[in-house]
Amino acid sequence: MTGRLTIVGLGPGDPRWLTPAATEALASATDLVGYAAYIARAPEAPGQRRHGSDNRVELDRARFALDLAAKGRRVAVVSGGDPGVFAMAAAVFEAVEGGDPAWRDLDIRVEPGITAMLAAAARVGAPLGGDFCAMSLSDNLKPWEVVEARLRAALQADFVVALYNPISQARPWQLGAALSIVAEARRPDTPIILARAVGRPDERIAILPLSEVEPSRADMSTLVIVGASTTRWIERREGEAPFVYTPRSYRACP
Ligand code: SAH
Repeated sequence: MTGRLTIVGLGPGDPRWLTPAATEALASATDLVGYAAYIARAPEAPGQRRHGSDNRVELDRARFALDLAAKGRRVAVVSGGDPGVFAMAAAVFEAVEGGDPAWRDLDIRVEPGITAMLAAAARVGAPLGGDFCAMSLSDNLKPWEVVEARLRAALQADFVVALYNPISQARPWQLGAALSIVAEARRPDTPIILARAVGRPDERIAILPLSEVEPSRADMSTLVIVGASTTRWIERREGEAPFVYTPRSYRACP
């Protein structure tokens, strides 16, 4: 039997956001590899082996999965959201590039999922309606100077900016530093969306003007969207959250 490795996106949490193709890839796998909390989201399949691990050792996990596939197993590596967005797919290809040359001949596929940014945007309106970009604020894999330079450039270009990995216990100050940089470039009433655990039972969404955002309102399950200069609020009746959208047309350079 020829081995296969599919890196499967589970979406942000709501099982209805798992694509039928991803469901099929999970069901036909002999082995699931990934962070235990993600594996738990995959429906049980008879005879399937589940290899849960903690979240830190992505490259080791990728090598382990490639090794199983090389032995002829049908392996699904699971990832939250989309596996290509700050997640396991890049780790697998990094392992392939630097690893056993035989791994290059394996049947390796990526099964996309809804990434957190899209799920968060859908909850509040259409903040990604104009040009936007996405960044990870994590400085585990790149120096903070790079994060800062890219954020400044994105703000200068007037993109809407989606910030993944905004804060964690190990990285407590980065979101505050990023918001200070945002405040140099954007008006105080710029809409900021803090979308926590979208699609999970503990979902919490806040839309705040930049001047009122406290980094402590975000955690590692939060996706932050920073509006562009053109991003607008549509106020609604008392007690209702506003809609936030970014028009597609752009009249003049900021
Ligand atoms: N591959 C994932 C992203 C992994 S990076 C995806 O495509 O969504 C991890 C970061 O993603 C978190 O720190 C958070 O910023 C964001 N994230 C993942 N799931 C989320 C969810 N359900 N709600 C809000 N943000 C989420």
